[in-house]
Amino acid sequence: AIRMVGVNKWYGAYHALRDIDLEVAPGEKLVLCGPSGSGKSTLIRCLNRLESHQAGKIVIDGVELTDDVKSIEEVRREVGMVFQQFNLFPHLSVLDNCTLAPLNVRKTPKAEARDLALTYLERVRIVEHADKYPSQLSGGQQQRVAIARALCMKPKIMLFDEPTSALDPEMVQEVLDCMVELAREGMTMLAVTHEMGFARQVADRVVFLDQGQIVEIAAPEAFFGAPRHERAKAFLQRIL
Ligand code: ATP
Ligand code: MG
Repeated sequence: AIRMVGVNKWYGAYHALRDIDLEVAPGEKLVLCGPSGSGKSTLIRCLNRLESHQAGKIVIDGVELTDDVKSIEEVRREVGMVFQQFNLFPHLSVLDNCTLAPLNVRKTPKAEARDLALTYLERVRIVEHADKYPSQLSGGQQQRVAIARALCMKPKIMLFDEPTSALDPEMVQEVLDCMVELAREGMTMLAVTHEMGFARQVADRVVFLDQGQIVEIAAPEAFFGAPRHERAKAFLQRIL
């Protein structure tokens, strides 16, 4: 579970997140949307401490995120993240990308880490490429590896920051399919995406951010069908 209470974040003088209150229950799926610069990436990145907040409280599965390195490591073990740019290690094979963190962070025995990696690579339908390097794969394939790599840490929560927006259109669906499958398996998910089909299909709630604030939270049917807030209406008119 995730709990954000009165979270504020500044980049220097710039107020990037304003009084964010948000609770995500175990197994819940949230889609985050909003205009460019509204703070979506910042919010997501605060949840695994790639960015730090300056006021308020973020609690992940009972652990409060503070400057304490132990709390940060503890949270990062439970929270997987997939970025727009796949961020695979270019000098490691697909398999080694997937076993690196389990071996080093979780101290998983080698054979077990390998089996785990192959299981998840199979799940995202890419196991036949296990010995290739990232540069030998398409964008969609790389992103599926990135998902498998995150899953190898057995996270309780998965964060996605526009996982399909760097992909050629024909590769978007294969990545979304993996995310839908993950959602069906009960993963707690927070995804920044403008893929409204995905949002309608899997989101329990859509969170609309504007200028660092949560302006509206609603079920997808309600949000897409009849957004209450003017800024949400304007945003949807632009993207739909
Ligand atoms: P996009 O849809 O373009 O990805 P976003 O909603 O993810 O936008 P953020 O990346 O969270 O927006 O940025 C929110 C605001 O904070 C923006 O005005 C941005 O310029 C600013 N910002 C983000 N990162 C930094 C940083 N490292 N230093 C200073 N300002 C930043
Ligand atoms: Mg962003």
